[in-house]
Amino acid sequence: MKDRLIRILRQLDSYMGRYPVYLYLIDAEYRLLWSNQFLEEKLPHFDGSRPFCYQALWNREHPCDDCLLVQDLERQKVIKNVLQRSLQPEQDDRYLEFLTLPIFEGQDQPRGYLRIGVDITQSEKERLALQTQERLFASIIDSSADAIIFLDNNDRVLEWNRGAEDLFGYSAEEMIGQSILKIIPQELMEIGELYYIRKELQTRGYLKKYETQRLKKDGELIYVDITSTRILDSEGHPIGRSEIIKDITSRKELEFELRRTVLELSKLNELNELLYRTYEPREIFENILIAITSGEGLRFNRAIILLRDKKTNMLKGYLGVGPSDEEEAQAIWAELQDHYRSLQEVVSIYREKMGQREYQVHRIVQQLQVPIEKKKHLLVRALESRQVYQVQEGEVISGHLYDIHINGRSLMDILGTDSFVVVPLFSKQEGLGVIIADNCITNRDIASEDIESLKVFAHQASLAIENARLYQSLQDRIRELQDAYQRLEENQQKLLRAERLAALGEMAAKVAHEIRNPLVSIGGFANLITRRAPENTDIRKFAVIIKEQVLNLENILNNILNISRPPRSDKKLIDVNRIIHQVASVMGGAIEHRGIRLALNLNCFSGKVYGDEKLLYHALLNLFKNAIEAFEDLDRPGNITVQTHCDNNNVMIEVCDNGRGIDPAILEKIFQPFFTTKSSGTGLGLSIVKQIVESHGGEVVVDSRPGEGSCFRLVFPNRRQAPEESSEMGN
Ligand code: ADP
Repeated sequence: MKDRLIRILRQLDSYMGRYPVYLYLIDAEYRLLWSNQFLEEKLPHFDGSRPFCYQALWNREHPCDDCLLVQDLERQKVIKNVLQRSLQPEQDDRYLEFLTLPIFEGQDQPRGYLRIGVDITQSEKERLALQTQERLFASIIDSSADAIIFLDNNDRVLEWNRGAEDLFGYSAEEMIGQSILKIIPQELMEIGELYYIRKELQTRGYLKKYETQRLKKDGELIYVDITSTRILDSEGHPIGRSEIIKDITSRKELEFELRRTVLELSKLNELNELLYRTYEPREIFENILIAITSGEGLRFNRAIILLRDKKTNMLKGYLGVGPSDEEEAQAIWAELQDHYRSLQEVVSIYREKMGQREYQVHRIVQQLQVPIEKKKHLLVRALESRQVYQVQEGEVISGHLYDIHINGRSLMDILGTDSFVVVPLFSKQEGLGVIIADNCITNRDIASEDIESLKVFAHQASLAIENARLYQSLQDRIRELQDAYQRLEENQQKLLRAERLAALGEMAAKVAHEIRNPLVSIGGFANLITRRAPENTDIRKFAVIIKEQVLNLENILNNILNISRPPRSDKKLIDVNRIIHQVASVMGGAIEHRGIRLALNLNCFSGKVYGDEKLLYHALLNLFKNAIEAFEDLDRPGNITVQTHCDNNNVMIEVCDNGRGIDPAILEKIFQPFFTTKSSGTGLGLSIVKQIVESHGGEVVVDSRPGEGSCFRLVFPNRRQAPEESSEMGN
């Protein structure tokens, strides 16, 4: 058989020419029986000296592993295997695909093998490269954190990577063959999202970073972005699409957070504007509280301000804003919600509502009073440490044990809620107060962002309060300066007037001096005539009138002289009662003449005034004269009452009348020189009285009611013995 077979093979080989096929025949022991020309040419060490195929072909000492397989070949079987060998030293491996045909000669076991091999190195390398690429691709897909899925034209899942498993919670087994609708939210289906995706792929061939939402197995909605590409077969027909789905939920959350923060900032800005719109402290406090509680503001249900009262050293409830119950809350909130309103509008609505009725929060505000020395009290602690404290379900969060009682009642009881937040208001120098904010109506949890916003706002509010205070004190200073300026102007005027008066006085004194002597003569002669003329004669009557008028003129002259050139005083201890008797007797005629009743209640017996008798006499004369004149044009009976009292310290003289009284509008002017309401008055009397009394260390007080009468009270220091050297007299 061998020879015949070899002959046939040779013939075959000659027909094949240089066709690149390796062809050889071996026996069961791998001994080389025949090989074709191509093989001999290609393999340099195939020189016939190596009898075994593995020695000739592969330059080895032992049968190759794959040839050993040949031994195990079952009968009648043809095997096909690929051998990877270096055919020549230092040459890259070649891949040869061999077909091994067992040769039987009637026995069960093959007697030899015909091997036919072709070089498939090129295609094998390509195949291996492809395989590597595929593996790489598969491992990329598999290890990707993003979900990568392949869908057929009917939106059925073909591939579902580990990323998709992790993202959606569905395993590949659960999803492969299933419709993608499983992960698309119903609402998005209803608005035609799938239709949109398909259309985009059809027109553009891809869809890039399309942001939407998908549904997880546990029902949670997540934000994703999808990049999808259409997949075409070799003939360009679409066979499906790939989708790379990225979870962007946290990014979206950050975006929302950012947007919220921006909104919050613009809101804070609006609040700020509101705060600086006024310098009126109460209005600022109202605005602060409304801003905290209005829907457009910081969204708390209720807010209360407590301020530090420096006088009483207490932290005291000052103002609160917030509805008393749900019904009331709805009434306000409904109005605010019907359309967008600026914060300013919200504030006016609140202010209007606040004025309309008594809210429960006002009663709460009144109960909130804590002495600042209670250092362990939560509210005092917040004020002094300038920190925010949150109370949640009755517990002070992350705080030590603080006292939360006011007059034996817990703050929770007073507020009617067990969750609230306390935020301090403070300036650079000191704590101003605290704000308590809660959600007593909705019971909504107080989120940390709410507290953060409130903190920022409270800081702004503190600045606004501080600002308003500075503004107020600036206003006060300006007012003081204006007052001082006005006083300065008045004093300047007075000075001018005084100078003019001094000049006038100088002249008046000269004239008065010249008139005085003739006047004394006229008075003396009138006195003589009164005494000598028979009673009830006209002469006597006229003489009395002359006497009175001379007295009057003397008084005027004295006043003029006093004011222009205060007389040198002659000081001694004076019994005021005696002087009053003297004045009463001098004025007796005039009093009697006008039908006035004079009552003297002189009760100062031991008291003495240290001073100038003439001056005191003159002062009292002026008061008597005014009292008499208080009845001018009145047709009712008049009473003048003169009283004296004294104690260890003071001697008091009171001259009262029940005459016309003094209009309150002019009361403070009556002591000014030249102020008079009388047609024939000089306006000097009271100013002289004041000057004399003050120069005796005393004071004048007037008490008067229009239509009822007036009382002039002179109070002097009581000196029962003359001081060594009086410093109080001044002149
Ligand atoms: P004159 O008496 O010259 O007006 P005075 O200085 O004594 O000046 O008084 C100033 C003014 O005070 C008077 O014009 C008068 O209006 C008011 N007056 C003073 N005493 C009395 C009094 N007893 N009753 C009512 N008015 C008085």
